Amino acid sequence: MKAIVFERNGGCEVLQYKDTPIPKPGPVEVLIEVKASACNFNDIWARRGLPGMTIILPHISGSDAAGIVIETGSEVHHVKVGDEVVVHCGISCRQCDYCTRGEEFFCRDFRIWGFQTGPLDGAHGQYCKVPAVNVLRKPCNLSFEEAATIPLVLVTVWRMLVTRAHIRAGDFVLIWGAAGGLGVMAIQVAKLYNANVIAVASSDDKLELCHQLGAEFVLNRKKHDIFSEVRKITDGRRADIVFEHTGADTWPISMQCLKWGGTIVTCGATSGFDAQMDIRLLWNKQQNYLGSHLGNKGELVDALHFVETGQIRPVVGEILPLTELGRAQHLMETGALAGKIAIVPPSA
Ligand code: NDP
Repeated sequence: MKAIVFERNGGCEVLQYKDTPIPKPGPVEVLIEVKASACNFNDIWARRGLPGMTIILPHISGSDAAGIVIETGSEVHHVKVGDEVVVHCGISCRQCDYCTRGEEFFCRDFRIWGFQTGPLDGAHGQYCKVPAVNVLRKPCNLSFEEAATIPLVLVTVWRMLVTRAHIRAGDFVLIWGAAGGLGVMAIQVAKLYNANVIAVASSDDKLELCHQLGAEFVLNRKKHDIFSEVRKITDGRRADIVFEHTGADTWPISMQCLKWGGTIVTCGATSGFDAQMDIRLLWNKQQNYLGSHLGNKGELVDALHFVETGQIRPVVGEILPLTELGRAQHLMETGALAGKIAIVPPSA
């Protein structure tokens, strides 16, 4: 099959479009003909290489796929050949105490498919294999390209805002990178809960998109002083929840913008891991600083319900052929695009 493979870490130049073997599903796995995959920032972390994490080489990235099941393992009974599916990318043993409690992120075998798996085990090819337990029915109101862009970012946002931060009606939610992959989902989930969204992005075009998605307040981080604007918007109260993933550059501002007793929830650090923190704020203001990582399959099932009702919709900024995965990653790294990028492999 055709796939995008890298054999060493580096810039986009390490990505090669080449022939690789079609994966063979094991007894509890399914083989999917990929109709579309999606770019996620973990594709970029894997390609660059991350300190303290082994990226298995040769590597096929891609943690989101939408496609058709074309083969099932001998022990698979709930998924059939011909099913149109999307993938939940959290792979774990499904047997330990954590997994059976729905806390698979604490499983000793937890890995994000297409990021920590391998060799050659991700979505950016014509076929992929995953455990059958990781597939869900594709929302029937979405194209394959739209569906591929949803699961990873939606389940991450759902866990951050709903499970971890306990978002409530009327909350002021400050969302960094609000026109990015996580951001466009965070706006929609916050609106579902009747929260007030303060969206931050770096261009007026992106802010227009945030506004269309329901954000009441939009701030351009290149023009506005975010802290003083948040104080004005909230009448001095500041934000109930700050939605973080941008890291070192924004963390001190996130702390300033948080109200007494408020919650910062984070899942990433695009601009760097080494953030400054005045820990006096933590006790004096009794604030909550929460980490969050992906989400479990149950959370994805809950969230996809709102995709099927049309209350959460995909935001596809670009659809590119598999051969242009490098360009797609460059667009993400430079923040040039709003929404998600879907990748389409050649027909099998
Ligand atoms: P995107 O590239 O789609 O969006 C990120 C946005 O962040 C950009 O649109 C940009 O918006 C903003 N941004 C980038 N740098 C800065 C900066 N220095 N200051 C302020 N804003 C900045 O990525 P995703 O939304 O898909 O992912 C975001 C991060 O979250 C990544 O680091 C990713 O690895 C992580 N993540 C973690 C997950 C987990 O489970 N732990 C799951 C999913 C993502 P603008 O320039 O317009 O302000």
